[in-house]
Amino acid sequence: MTTVSIALKRSTGNFWVDTGLVVLAHGLGEGDHTIDRVRSWVLDQLTQKTGKKGLYYDLASGQLREYEKTNWVYPTNLFIKVAGAAGKKVSIGGATYPTQPPIFDLKLDLTKKPGTCDICGEDAPLTDAKMWMLPLLVDPDKFGNFYPGLKRGTRLCARCALAGAAAYVGWLWKAQGQDALHIFVFHSELGLLAELHRTVLRPWIQARQDKGGNAPTAFSGPYVHETALGLLLALFSHAHSSDVLDPEGRELLAGLLGTTPAPPPPITLYAITGKPGQAFQMTALREFTRLHHLFRLYERWLDVVSRLDNNRHARVVNIFGQFRAQRQGKWETLWRDRIAWAVLTFDDPFPGVAEFLYEVQAREENRRPLVEGTLQILETYAREVMGMDEQFQRTLAGFGHHLGEKAYEQKEMGLLYDLRNAKNPEAFYRVLNDAQFRLETNVPEALLNIEKGERIAGMSWLRVKTILSIYAMNAYLRKERREPTQEG
Ligand SMILES: [Zn+2]
Repeated sequence: MTTVSIALKRSTGNFWVDTGLVVLAHGLGEGDHTIDRVRSWVLDQLTQKTGKKGLYYDLASGQLREYEKTNWVYPTNLFIKVAGAAGKKVSIGGATYPTQPPIFDLKLDLTKKPGTCDICGEDAPLTDAKMWMLPLLVDPDKFGNFYPGLKRGTRLCARCALAGAAAYVGWLWKAQGQDALHIFVFHSELGLLAELHRTVLRPWIQARQDKGGNAPTAFSGPYVHETALGLLLALFSHAHSSDVLDPEGRELLAGLLGTTPAPPPPITLYAITGKPGQAFQMTALREFTRLHHLFRLYERWLDVVSRLDNNRHARVVNIFGQFRAQRQGKWETLWRDRIAWAVLTFDDPFPGVAEFLYEVQAREENRRPLVEGTLQILETYAREVMGMDEQFQRTLAGFGHHLGEKAYEQKEMGLLYDLRNAKNPEAFYRVLNDAQFRLETNVPEALLNIEKGERIAGMSWLRVKTILSIYAMNAYLRKERREPTQEG
């Protein structure tokens, strides 16, 4: 069989191969195409002249000739390790030369006898899966969960193999210097995926040509969660108004994110992070499926900050972007990643925020509270995702605020560290008692009622302590910031 059939009817279920099918349908059109035609189209997309010159020995004329070097486009070259065929080598004056300019090709080596393709399940001549077809094959033992049925020795039909190579054209990537390379792939049912690429992803990517990647991000760093959140925030900002998407794209995006009455179709974002070296070393592969829930939160956050900022999106980006610090001339962003992880997985972001406040903000030479609006956004999150009681939240905020201001007035920052470091309910109450005495405060009743399972107002005492210490330290730093300094 020398043709492959490109159709957007049936998903293979494999996010990588499906992305490639969408790319091929867009580039070549649906229908039957010869394998050679598909292969040369993919090669055209993935190779480029480097601008450098090389020499080859021309057998016909018996002379050395110059040629312009070609290579796989970055960062595809981290995955496609297939060298160009340079013909026979000859040795002249101690140097070795190819006898032709290297020809780049992606050979399929199909079996004569048909078998069942491990990806699409169809019967066809097969080839052994190689890294250039399925880049995440690098370590199927470790990442096998994400690739059902994928193992060393996976066999593919020509269409799936070529789609695997074409997927590099449709991925989103973001390089973080030598520290990390992030890859993002959206996945959904094929027809919808094709629409997403056509009306949203391609225009969005094209509006931004950057050597560091084609993926627009609100912020990025070396870690997978912070960068995935940075990507989603950037994408979300286009759902209501956009300078790059036309109405059709905006409408599709809004539908995907659940702003229309129809239930949003399932869509998944795969985020893959690795170290770019000679080859790509994968360090993380994550799957995010509840994008419409995240979008709903994002919309709530926009509401929350509307009183603070005319550019509501920029304020939300500032709030999530702030959790980083200069370390040895570089930005360390592990707090941001931890908080982004919590938000993306609908878990608890407060421990990450507390760590940042106590270990970074309060210890800096130029101490600062959190960006204004941070606590309000976290409160919304705590109510909607963690089910925190609004009344208790107000009590905790009020008391924490008061505690922090009093601690500032009495220069008792150590007391706040004692609070944060309390390891059990007894220690927690001891610190509160201490505060009552030293800062002349009254601990609210609601905090003193510890229930079965060491819970306070239905929450674990630990969470209550963490949130309280955030309010208190932030109030301390805010008051310090507002007071005129001795010199000033
Ligand atoms: Zn197949």
